[in-house]
Amino acid sequence: MKEYSTQDALVLFSGGQDSTTCLYWAKQQFRNTYALCFTYGQRHSQEVENARRIAEMAETPFRILEANIISHLAPNSLTDATMLMDEVKPAGSYPNTFVPGRNLLFLTFAATLAYAQGIRHLVTGVSEADYSGYPDCRDTFIRSANATLNLAMDKQFVIHTPLMWRNKKQVWQLADELGVFDIVKNETLTCYNGILAGGCGHCPACLLRNKGLEEYLAERGA
Ligand code: ZN
Repeated sequence: MKEYSTQDALVLFSGGQDSTTCLYWAKQQFRNTYALCFTYGQRHSQEVENARRIAEMAETPFRILEANIISHLAPNSLTDATMLMDEVKPAGSYPNTFVPGRNLLFLTFAATLAYAQGIRHLVTGVSEADYSGYPDCRDTFIRSANATLNLAMDKQFVIHTPLMWRNKKQVWQLADELGVFDIVKNETLTCYNGILAGGCGHCPACLLRNKGLEEYLAERGA
């Protein structure tokens, strides 16, 4: 179903499993798709280069926006190599992979760029299911941000979250339905230790990704 086939979309894109699946979802839904990748002092700059490579494979215009300021404001283990990454969520708080304000900032930048380019649709791979429970990945936050951006810029943006209610197994399933299972499996970088595809196998991102993949493959019978 191509509900928006006459319109354009901007995808918040990191080259990981989720945003790559979203990129191909958007390519199927919209007339033109654009990829926006943020740098914010990630430990692994190859994440950005890999995102560029995947966008080229997908024949999607790719733009990098520097948002490094966010890592100067709040210490987190994604950008500070001296911090040991939480492998489990500490009781009563968020793991130190949480970057406070990140998704609000990114959506604001994305909407600003979309405004300038006459794009109305934004796509982001956040999800409430199966994740660390980051507050800015929740549906209620996205709805609130959407309303705020529309008021701030006097536009009718639509933020699409095709993964919101999908667990990792179902994200693999969506990639398969979109015909890009092998691309997502072999070319994306999700691992916090910067290792492509199957990753290091023990960081929180790898554990989620690989568990979902095993579950999906068991279900698919492959
Ligand atoms: Zn890993």
